Amino acid sequence: CGIVGYVGFRNARDVLIDGLAKLEYRGYDSAGVAVRTDAGLTVRKKAGKLAFLVEELAQEPVSGTLGIGHTRWATHGLPNDRNAHPHATEDGRIVIIHNGIIENYLTLKEGLTERGHSFKSETDSEVLAHLIEEKYEGDLETAVRAALAEVRGAYGIVVTHVDHREIVAARTVSPLVMGVGDGEMFLASDVPALLPYTRRMVYLHDGDMVVLSEDGYRITNLSGERQSRDVVHIDWDA
Ligand code: GLU
Repeated sequence: CGIVGYVGFRNARDVLIDGLAKLEYRGYDSAGVAVRTDAGLTVRKKAGKLAFLVEELAQEPVSGTLGIGHTRWATHGLPNDRNAHPHATEDGRIVIIHNGIIENYLTLKEGLTERGHSFKSETDSEVLAHLIEEKYEGDLETAVRAALAEVRGAYGIVVTHVDHREIVAARTVSPLVMGVGDGEMFLASDVPALLPYTRRMVYLHDGDMVVLSEDGYRITNLSGERQSRDVVHIDWDA
């Protein structure tokens, strides 16, 4: 439902929680974040109100300058802590969040299970983490592209890997907008989440993939061809 991503110099927790709060009006049943910390990728997720996640983060803070956050509107699997996003691989080295529906997730899940993967949730989304892990040979963008080639459905997907200080995202049908900063980059499912930080936005098109780091961004399509998209100045307030 709601997506926020951040890489830069600020406390990622604050950008993610403030951004998700701006997207609360869309409705949701669970919320979660993953932050890149010194210990790896730390996931915190909770069914229910964003306030419950905020409470948990107050008790057990996470600190880092790269992170991804999600508010879930369940389509596959009950709204509970386990099914909340982000979803991580078993080794915790890859985390993903996903908006939309993976139509062929059962077939993909069967194949992955046969090849030794085990699943922690009932969601369609979790297959994405495992599929990307299977395709990963050192380059995250290539792995995400290879995984998406096997996926049917609607998605806004946001991925990060513990070995790379970058965020990889892609969209088909589900909206994604990128916020351009100086020494920082943002991502969200809708503009209001980013307006406190930047007014320079790039609307991603259907089939776009993007790699974000604090140094900037690169947009390609699902075949790996470079795409150029306008940077739009937003002069309205949410
Ligand atoms: N289909 C996914 C799930 O049920 C994502 C739902 C959403 O867009 O929030 O977990």
